[in-house]
Amino acid sequence: MQQQVNVFKFGGASLKDADAIRHVGTILKRFAHQRLVIVVSAMGKTTNALEEVANSYWRGDAPEAKQKLGAIHEAATQVINELFAEVPEELTAAVNDLFVSVEWALDEAPNPEYDYDYDQIVSLGELVSSHIVAAYLNRIDLPTRWLDARDVIQTDNTYREGWVKWPETIERAERLVPPLLQEANFVLTQGFIGNTSENYTTTLGREGSDYSAAIFSYCLDAEAMSIWKDVPGVLTADPRLFDNVTKIDRLSYKEAIEMTYYGAKVIHPKTIKPLQNKSIPLYVRSFIEPHLEGTYITDDAGDVYPPMVAVERDQALINISTRDFSFVAEHHIRELFEHITTTRLQVNMMQNTAISFNVVVNDIDDRVERFCTLIDQNFKTTVDRQLELITIRHYTPEIVDSLRRGKVNMLEGRLPLTLQMVVKDVPVMRRKD
Ligand code: ASP
Ligand code: MG
Repeated sequence: MQQQVNVFKFGGASLKDADAIRHVGTILKRFAHQRLVIVVSAMGKTTNALEEVANSYWRGDAPEAKQKLGAIHEAATQVINELFAEVPEELTAAVNDLFVSVEWALDEAPNPEYDYDYDQIVSLGELVSSHIVAAYLNRIDLPTRWLDARDVIQTDNTYREGWVKWPETIERAERLVPPLLQEANFVLTQGFIGNTSENYTTTLGREGSDYSAAIFSYCLDAEAMSIWKDVPGVLTADPRLFDNVTKIDRLSYKEAIEMTYYGAKVIHPKTIKPLQNKSIPLYVRSFIEPHLEGTYITDDAGDVYPPMVAVERDQALINISTRDFSFVAEHHIRELFEHITTTRLQVNMMQNTAISFNVVVNDIDDRVERFCTLIDQNFKTTVDRQLELITIRHYTPEIVDSLRRGKVNMLEGRLPLTLQMVVKDVPVMRRKD
């Protein structure tokens, strides 16, 4: 029987410079005899830097965009020069071609659709990093085939949030990946990016490389998927925000979905579903201490969980009421939901009273303004911004109290296992001198 495939995902932090890439090589040496599909993100903070390029270009400042792109190219070249005593010619050629094609595009007038231009520019990060890492693995005698993820992952044309076309993607993965794994044990590809039927590049949403790895895992019936992180596994809360966090050894898919949906940044929220559908286990492991166990995510085994906290920032609370004081009835709700869909508002919480409807959403771009304008004829709206959504699974009175301290509670919702509150900091009064 053919050996099963495992899928590994390495994020930007694990590829941030030449030393980090060497370290990834050392980790992968231990798996030299396994068949791996390796999904990589852009190096370090490259995606943020490319967003800046896209923004300058969109503002009409092509020279600034080019200058920023040049800096990213230089940084990539430096990593390459540090990694290779003798740089493979094909690598230099591939990386230069990628940068030149974006540079040329910057000379054209921006497309009417910002999201389209964004994806064409920002996808460069993963394309470059994947060429570098694949060439490096080959150099250290880990035979690796480079695969363009866009040949496999097909999406609709929702730029910046491509929706996967599953039948096409499965067919392509089954056709294209196994022959490469016959030639070499490792296939290395990009996270985050996909392709439309017109052959344009899409991205799957920020931090979407985890999702890409899950798509490959699903399509190839992987034995398991591993995400290599700079934390020891899934923690009870974000250690940058809280003290006394502990690692969770085992987690059900359901718990993982609940926590990541509401802002636990450790895994992209879309990652779990494809894995759960085929009962493919997910390991979240530390690339800093690769010998440790990490967190094992699988079917529910009736585990008992400690309280787990996720915080999502940049929340907007939209209070909506009817202009004529009529009840918020079914037809109103239908109208509101229609506009929630068209403006792609990502809803995290909802509550209603007789004449008002409250909705908490991720405050992205100008979506809230567009939504309020669309419903303006029939509804009055007030918006509170810069709020935090705190989600506590398996809450206890103590933890709820401690999280409330120093905050104004704007909205709260409770279910047996989940408590959510939307809060803002209490304005601190200072004595005048
Ligand atoms: N490079 C992309 C980002 O930073 C995708 C990812 O890292 O998962 O959002
Ligand atoms: Mg990342």
